[in-house]
Amino acid sequence: MTTARLQIAPTVEEVAVFNPYDGSLVGRVEASGPGDVEALLVRARHGALLSRALPRHRRAAILERAARLVGEGCEDFARTIVREAGKTIVQARKETLRCVNTLKLAAEEAKRNAGEIVPFDAYAGSESRQGWFTREPLGIVAAITPYNDPLNLVAHKLGPAIAGGNAVLLKPSELTPLSALKLVETLIEAGLPEAIVTVAIGGADLGRAIVSAREIRMVSFTGGFATGEAITRAAGLKKLAMDLGGNAPVIVMADCDLGKAVESCISGAYWAAGQNCIGTQRILVQAACYHSFREAFVAGTLRLQSGDPGREETDVGPMISEAAAERAQAAVEQAIAAGARLLCGHRREGALYYPTVIEAVPRDNRLWREEIFAPVVMLERFETLGDAIRMANEPDCSLHAGIFTNNLADALEAAAGIEAGGVMINDSSDYRFDAMPFGGFKHGSMGREGVRFAYEEMTQPKVVCINRV
Ligand code: NAD
Repeated sequence: MTTARLQIAPTVEEVAVFNPYDGSLVGRVEASGPGDVEALLVRARHGALLSRALPRHRRAAILERAARLVGEGCEDFARTIVREAGKTIVQARKETLRCVNTLKLAAEEAKRNAGEIVPFDAYAGSESRQGWFTREPLGIVAAITPYNDPLNLVAHKLGPAIAGGNAVLLKPSELTPLSALKLVETLIEAGLPEAIVTVAIGGADLGRAIVSAREIRMVSFTGGFATGEAITRAAGLKKLAMDLGGNAPVIVMADCDLGKAVESCISGAYWAAGQNCIGTQRILVQAACYHSFREAFVAGTLRLQSGDPGREETDVGPMISEAAAERAQAAVEQAIAAGARLLCGHRREGALYYPTVIEAVPRDNRLWREEIFAPVVMLERFETLGDAIRMANEPDCSLHAGIFTNNLADALEAAAGIEAGGVMINDSSDYRFDAMPFGGFKHGSMGREGVRFAYEEMTQPKVVCINRV
């Protein structure tokens, strides 16, 4: 068990962190409440002055050093993720290595992306002018993060914010604060002046108080739709970035490499026990290969080992809580009552919900329309690619999609027709490289992460123009 300290004297008690797999106490952290926000802001204000004064080479050096330290401490970080989030150890190591990359990318951005020359003489009458724009910090950025990637999603906000010369008021998920605290401690060890990142741990009340503070220049949020909506109502006039949920479709065409499609979709559907915003939720399979795909997909699902996330052999760990697993089970139950057919899974032991495959889910059912965020996948058959694209686009929210095909024209038709922030060809929806623009289409999504893109959102251009005559 670990006890982590915050830098601010809290007025509220502690947050206890539990292991989702066995319910054991993993750590206690000092919590903040709405009444602490003023003190948190005093510190963040000081942090903003320090951060904007740091030359770019120092920001880059701190981020590079932090990346190296996270890499050296990979196993320790990964074990922390396993203990507090229930992710399997193999997946937690991958998340940690992605965090190393995210920090390295942020270091590069600090050195590279400082502004541009403005071609004033491209406008008749402005020939005597020359100048540029710089990328200036916003000030204090509030970063609010979810439980499912408790390390790398925090790095996706801290890295670009620090690279851009901002201070951050970070509120990680109260369910998984330990990885975030460890990352902040590592940044400080790497030389970051302490006030540049202020951590506040607590729930919705604290989050609401933070986002509504006038001095916060931007809220960078990753989490669910309802919370995103609540934040937009509370935040008032400030910049918002909303990285919300998905309900990813993957199209399987009859001409594809079926073995590869099955393997990739199994990984995409059950990674992090399905608690993955780009996790494959709906697999649309062309009628000519539906039966063979279904047979292989169900067989592959049944081979997965569910259980203790600390064991190397485990493929699927627990969900974040027993309540979350119960909600998933109830949603599947309701879909079955509405006419869906269960193919495998749908068994629950505490927070463990076994990988579940269903087919023929009614298209007005919430499993089809909304994000389930659980190890549940739906199969649906289609005849033509046009039908598949229409089905893929039915939900009102979308992040990523995928298509398996060996036909270039079909691949490009899907890429053009699917409404999503990313379309993966011959990959499941669950592919992300931390430098690419990442974000959603349709309801609620605002802005893009991916280090360069978050950095640009977290900085503001300032034009300097010289008139020579
Ligand atoms: P959540 O929305 O319940 O919580 C996210 C964060 O918001 C937590 O820190 C929480 O304490 C805080 N919060 C809750 N109420 C608040 C309020 N009123 N004001 C301010 N902050 C508040 O999300 P979760 O259950 O932790 O995470 C799962 C969700 O996150 C899923 O919908 C998933 O798709 C989404 N997600 C999106 C991405 C992405 O990059 N698009 C990545 C990962 C997860």
